[in-house]
Amino acid sequence: MRYELMLPHQIRKAIAENWPVVLPLGVLEYHGEHMAVGMDTLAVVKILELFKTEAEIVILPPFYYGAASYVVAAPEGSGSVQVGGNVLAPFAEELFYSLLRIGFRNIHAIIHHQTENFAAGMPTDLAFKAAGRQAIFRFLEKERGEGWWGSAAMADYYAEHAEGSNFFNWVQVHPLMPASMHSQYPFDHAGIGETSLMLALCPEAVDADHFADNTGWYTASALEASAELGRQGVAMILDHLRATLLR
Ligand SMILES: [Zn+2]
Repeated sequence: MRYELMLPHQIRKAIAENWPVVLPLGVLEYHGEHMAVGMDTLAVVKILELFKTEAEIVILPPFYYGAASYVVAAPEGSGSVQVGGNVLAPFAEELFYSLLRIGFRNIHAIIHHQTENFAAGMPTDLAFKAAGRQAIFRFLEKERGEGWWGSAAMADYYAEHAEGSNFFNWVQVHPLMPASMHSQYPFDHAGIGETSLMLALCPEAVDADHFADNTGWYTASALEASAELGRQGVAMILDHLRATLLR
């Protein structure tokens, strides 16, 4: 369900049943002359719209204002919007803290932008990962007081940790495409991989009349994009979401 359309009794049900609460996280960034600047975020939004037809999840309103950076193009006339990670982190901490206050304990952000480096992290995902940790520490300390971890009530912490139940799983950040997918589907910026995903998920975000206006090396393969290839990518991503969100 879309969070902004939920009634309080539906929110209470989602909390009681521990539904995944998912934030589509992304940027607005120049993606060549042929594709919309929202691509990285639209891919997450559109995939989650498909996923919610088969799974009970809460989808938060998307956050588009991540750290696009200007590595691809300067912003003047290109459309890239850059908000640095240092600014994002306090916002994200407040957002996650508020979601914990509401009662959610199964919170996820899904991001596509720059996730070829997800293991080490890039500014947007690092800011949200750190913010999730900060929010959890702050929330637990407020709820339980200082010294909560060292108290006798926590004696089975490591046993529960081994079972997979852990406070620090309350907020997680995931790439839209897992690293294991990179050998099976082209990972690129505004090339065949991303353009195909948009043709499959959001065709209005691609205008073939403007392929010829591209000059960047990274868009050279976009001409070979197809909705069929994009659908193959979508199927792989849906498998990844099933494995990640429905554990
Ligand atoms: Zn992209």
